[in-house]
Amino acid sequence: MSESPRPREPVAERALALAFDVGGTSVRGAVVGADDVVVAESRVATRTGPAVLDDIAQLGEDLLAGLGREAQVAGVGVAFPGLVDTRSGISRRAVNLGLVDTPVAAPLAERLGLPVSVVHDTVAAAGAIWADAGSPASALVAVLGTGVAAVTYVEGRAIVGASGQAGELGHLVVDPAGPPCTCGLRGCVETRAGARGMLERYASLGGDPTITGVAELVEQAAYDRLAAQVWSEAITALADGFLAVGALLAPGEIILGGGVAEAGEDLLDPLRARMRERAGVTAVPPVRLSALGGRAGLVGAARLALAAVRPASTRMGP
Ligand SMILES: [Zn+2]
Repeated sequence: MSESPRPREPVAERALALAFDVGGTSVRGAVVGADDVVVAESRVATRTGPAVLDDIAQLGEDLLAGLGREAQVAGVGVAFPGLVDTRSGISRRAVNLGLVDTPVAAPLAERLGLPVSVVHDTVAAAGAIWADAGSPASALVAVLGTGVAAVTYVEGRAIVGASGQAGELGHLVVDPAGPPCTCGLRGCVETRAGARGMLERYASLGGDPTITGVAELVEQAAYDRLAAQVWSEAITALADGFLAVGALLAPGEIILGGGVAEAGEDLLDPLRARMRERAGVTAVPPVRLSALGGRAGLVGAARLALAAVRPASTRMGP
């Protein structure tokens, strides 16, 4: 996991982490304090192939250059999509980035001169949201961004499954006649409720071409019939996805994070209503928003980076 030697000096309580969240739309980089405060942040549009690693390193160099001389950055955490080997820091497969068996930790450690930990983006974001929510024993934590993912916690533990790939809520089919998904199926939850899916749907219906983000789309929905339709379809897909998990696992609550969750009450109110309408015999648990919003992946990656360089006796999970 750590590709360069640990720092010889003990890691101070006030140490900073350099965190990256590699998303489908943008690569976000941030300097994050131990108290989850984002000190500095920057982002670039996501490029595919090995170029994405250059972009991460460049963001990191720029963020480090902007810090004061006295600032102590202890390590780097990278929240990465797809299949990630966290021990070796290698991306086994990231379909949307076009990467197969690509070292991530080693080249970044060399460029940045810091120990680098790599973690699956959903694991990082969901872990941060769950911890921030007080680590509830039974909960479904959904990360709503370019894609959709969810981690279910039962008896205080995340269900990772026999393959380690549990939580692909985004690829649950809710509309078999729906639009094609990156996974090869049709009508997956994220084709309707993922940020990319929503924007593509809005464009295909002939929507306002100047709308390029979900926040604008949701704002537009108040007076634009097509935007309202797309947002409503997204709410329905999320409701059906959550109800499917609910029917199987009956989580005690649902906690929403990720950039799309920053829609706030515009998401929460209709989602709760739609779930009640479509629940049948399934119990509808309380649904709430995480305070971390779109920062969840960065915060999770930062926590991992700091945990990786702390002595084991004080180590905390992300
Ligand atoms: Zn899919």
